Amino acid sequence: MNITEYNKKFNEKKIQERIQEMPENLKEKAIEAFKAEESEDYLRSRELCMQIINENEEGNVEPVRILLARLYPRILRIDVEEINGNYQKDVDEYFEFLDSINMNEIMQQYVVDTLARMCELMENDWFRPLFKEFVDRISEKQYLTDESFKMTLESAYSSMESYEYYSDAKISLPVKDFLKSAYQKRYFINEENFESEKVNMIIDELTNEWFICRSFEEKAGELEYVRKTYPHSYESIKEVVSEMQADKNTFAENVLNELMNYAAPGTTKEMLTDALDKSYERMINAENKNVVVHSGAGSYKRNTAKISRNAPCPCGSGKKYKYCCGK
Ligand SMILES: [Zn+2]
Repeated sequence: MNITEYNKKFNEKKIQERIQEMPENLKEKAIEAFKAEESEDYLRSRELCMQIINENEEGNVEPVRILLARLYPRILRIDVEEINGNYQKDVDEYFEFLDSINMNEIMQQYVVDTLARMCELMENDWFRPLFKEFVDRISEKQYLTDESFKMTLESAYSSMESYEYYSDAKISLPVKDFLKSAYQKRYFINEENFESEKVNMIIDELTNEWFICRSFEEKAGELEYVRKTYPHSYESIKEVVSEMQADKNTFAENVLNELMNYAAPGTTKEMLTDALDKSYERMINAENKNVVVHSGAGSYKRNTAKISRNAPCPCGSGKKYKYCCGK
């Protein structure tokens, strides 16, 4: 038996296990639904799941509900990526589904996964207002009760803001980088990160703090603007800002000492300060040339289709784009 055959056998066994508790008359259809998912025919799989649930309101169809929870984010992703006009309809169906189930820990986990997957789709300009609507709805409905899951909502709002502040001319590059590394520190540095990745993030964060410290007085107005305009993002920097406010020189000294822990052997504080100064100058020059554009989560890709303002909105509302998501 080769690996492909082995995997196939293994998956079949897994499917059998999942549907064991299901009523006898529905097993065949359930197996078909799982197989459709496996072969990435998510629409067919959803259709079969719906049939099972509708035909069998009392029996235990939990495995089918879990499968559905897994299918929706994939279907919504396809709707956005392919701009097929089904988004509005499918997202309404998703919320109907969420309202109909018991929001246990597994289901909350799937909602969080969905948020993370859809967050990536903000590269599409037209999807951004819809993503905000999506997150607002999840938040209002209070599906997520676990503290760590609620944190994902905060992260989604910060991520949305990052798309706006990165193209906001009122904010300088050092402040943008400062916000970005603070976001990473808050949401990404955890036990699961690889050691090297973690170290790079910490060095980034310290460097950006040092840069802000260097020009703290002249950045005060900008930081106040961030606090008012991008409150979710400001949350990640507010403690550091108040520490800087309290005693800027001590703060800078502490940052420098911490950075020394990561410097090459033989590096003196003077050498490090000099290197930081040079890299600060380089950044300011790059900013003046206005070439660096990043999103909060990585490089900004501008390869998505431009939508004509008079075209029907890609979300599927039936309205013109300019009266809908393109407002
Ligand atoms: Zn729309």
